[in-house]
Amino acid sequence: MRHEEVDLEAIDRLKEVQRISGKISLYLSEIAKHEKKLNSALADQQLLRGQLEPIESRLGQGQIITRKLELDSKVAEDKIQKNRKQLDQATQATEFSGLKEQLARFDEEKAAVDESLIMVLEKIDELRTQEGDLNQRIAQAEEQLDEIRTEVTANTHDYRNELESLHKPLQQARVITDDELLEEFDRLFPSLGATVVVTLDGSTCGGCHLNVSSQVGEKVQAGKEVVICPSCARFLS
Ligand SMILES: [Zn+2]
Repeated sequence: MRHEEVDLEAIDRLKEVQRISGKISLYLSEIAKHEKKLNSALADQQLLRGQLEPIESRLGQGQIITRKLELDSKVAEDKIQKNRKQLDQATQATEFSGLKEQLARFDEEKAAVDESLIMVLEKIDELRTQEGDLNQRIAQAEEQLDEIRTEVTANTHDYRNELESLHKPLQQARVITDDELLEEFDRLFPSLGATVVVTLDGSTCGGCHLNVSSQVGEKVQAGKEVVICPSCARFLS
């Protein structure tokens, strides 16, 4: 690119673009800093909700198993009742002892089902406790999240207003700035920030802090053209 045709005023106009752009990126980074806290609180909240899902699915399974075991227990109980009636009516010794054996088997069957049922109900209780604790933590996290959200909104309010007020001045400063300089500025600004245009301190570049030749220094002094640091390619003023 050719800078020779651009005078000192051009670099001053670019400095104004840089000043406003620098403020904008400062406010944006301040807002991002505050929002980081909010985002991390949101992530924590999501994490807690994620922990709730497997508990609820296990509770659902537990209820299905409970219903099945309750049914099995009732079937076993019916068999026992029927068997007892048959025993009451039994008149022959062989029939009696056969029914007795059968009753013992049914009793065992029912005891096993009931034992399983108790275990499942205990597990459900345990899961319900976990669910309750987790819901409490989620509610607390929700409260915290609201607080943080209010805080972030309040703390970033001024920055947002500042940003809003800088929009127009930036547009105005850019409109009167040389296109070639702007293009170069826009290319460098994301990595360099508000040090695309730097002052020359003696013979030291204000950006990379390396010394420039006396020839470069004189050009900057003369102020008749846009001078670039040979080491870091920043604009010198
Ligand atoms: Zn430099």
